[in-house]
Amino acid sequence: MTVTGSQVAIREPETGLMPIMALSAARERHKQVLAFVQDLMEDGRDYGVIPGTGGKPTLYKPGAEKLTTFFGLTPTFTLRGKVEDWSGADHGSEPFFYYWYTCHLHRGDFLIAEADGSCNSRETQYRYRKGQRLCPSCGEAAIIKGRAEYGGGWLCWGKRGGCGAKFKDGATEIESQEVGRVLNEDIADQVNSILKKAQKRAFVAVTLIGVNASQFFTQDLEDMTEDFETEAATIEHKTNPRDSAPRPKTPKSAQAKVAPKEEGDWDYDAWWALAKRLGVDNDTVHAGFGVASMKDYTGTKAHAKTVLDIAAFGVFKTLSVTDMRVALGCLPVDWQGTLDEAKAAMQLWIANEQGRTAHEQAQLEEGETEF
Ligand SMILES: [Zn+2]
Repeated sequence: MTVTGSQVAIREPETGLMPIMALSAARERHKQVLAFVQDLMEDGRDYGVIPGTGGKPTLYKPGAEKLTTFFGLTPTFTLRGKVEDWSGADHGSEPFFYYWYTCHLHRGDFLIAEADGSCNSRETQYRYRKGQRLCPSCGEAAIIKGRAEYGGGWLCWGKRGGCGAKFKDGATEIESQEVGRVLNEDIADQVNSILKKAQKRAFVAVTLIGVNASQFFTQDLEDMTEDFETEAATIEHKTNPRDSAPRPKTPKSAQAKVAPKEEGDWDYDAWWALAKRLGVDNDTVHAGFGVASMKDYTGTKAHAKTVLDIAAFGVFKTLSVTDMRVALGCLPVDWQGTLDEAKAAMQLWIANEQGRTAHEQAQLEEGETEF
């Protein structure tokens, strides 16, 4: 794969178009931005904090729009490059789309800042969809894992339009169905989303520069999921994870510290240091592993690392362990698939959750209890 993840390049005009500010003016401007953020920007809508990442909140597109409006800035976009391979002829028979935009921020005729953003169809969120189990009785994609306390197994859930049929654990007509990530064969439907995403990345990046807001906010972490894996593999971490410039890959030697070495005694200090670095607190680790102490965990170290990565991704996406359990159909420690599949399952669950109102959610939980 030649194109990866989000690419955000930032440059500021070198011509000194931005007037040199007196210290007092700079302070005044800092105060203005701060007051604006505190009074008029809404947590969760305009920006958000992603637990476990520490530091600055992430600026979202609505927040960037508010800031540019407040400062009287107008964004315009220039398409800098694109690839539209509808048939996939040049990309291994898999259709491929790529867009690269520059966003310019002007105040009147005055160019304040520029930044680039790109997006492509090989990013996980576009390339794959979640394979869903279909009910053998009614054909609906309404199969959920039954709760252990209600006998486990599988249920064709009425709340999702299913017929209520139940299946035992191990039922091959359910468990042989392909789930997890499958290639999205309808990628062409998402071309517009990919284009908009490239523009959004450029817009948020240029806003951070143009209003000098990078002291308060960072680039959209939602876009940096791809980078997360690299992060997770690295205990030694010197660069700011929210820097938008690409980071060099950490050499293997640095990873050796993280990954449990050969089997044998655990280095619990290293383990907890890693968990902490990944933003997973001790309670979450214990809950995700289903143990009161890691000394009770009997699996391999390699598996433990995968389980920790799953939990870290869940935390990164603001899921509780209970959420993870629902999203995965089991505790992280019992997950049988790959890390990528676990991430895809959690992403799907999040996407579904976001579409639900609190009321519907209450009904769903009621439905589960009945089962
Ligand atoms: Zn059914």
